[in-house]
Amino acid sequence: MTIVYISLVILLLLLIGGKLHRKKHGRNRIVHVLEKNCTRCRSCLKKCNHNVLDLVKDEKGTHIELKNPDNCTGCGDCISACRFNALELVQRVDTKSR
Ligand code: SF4
Ligand code: SF4
Repeated sequence: MTIVYISLVILLLLLIGGKLHRKKHGRNRIVHVLEKNCTRCRSCLKKCNHNVLDLVKDEKGTHIELKNPDNCTGCGDCISACRFNALELVQRVDTKSR
């Protein structure tokens, strides 16, 4: 029984450590859409809790757009939800310092 508790504690510590690591390193990263892979399935929209992504229709056609890029935490949740390898995290470019 003790081994089960120890395993659970280790698992919990790994989960918390992973989350903190993502939070720390995600600040400098932002999601990027690889248009050629995107099927417009909307799974990423449902997964993002920060209202970053939107499905828009304009002169470029229907596509995923970052409507609130400043809200992106780089958490990667949308990437996990995308089954078509259409999302990636890239280095955030600081446009304010230009
Ligand atoms: S989950 Fe992937 S394929 Fe689906 S709309 Fe989002 S980016 Fe496109
Ligand atoms: S990386 Fe996180 S915050 Fe950024 S768009 Fe994806 S789910 Fe939303």
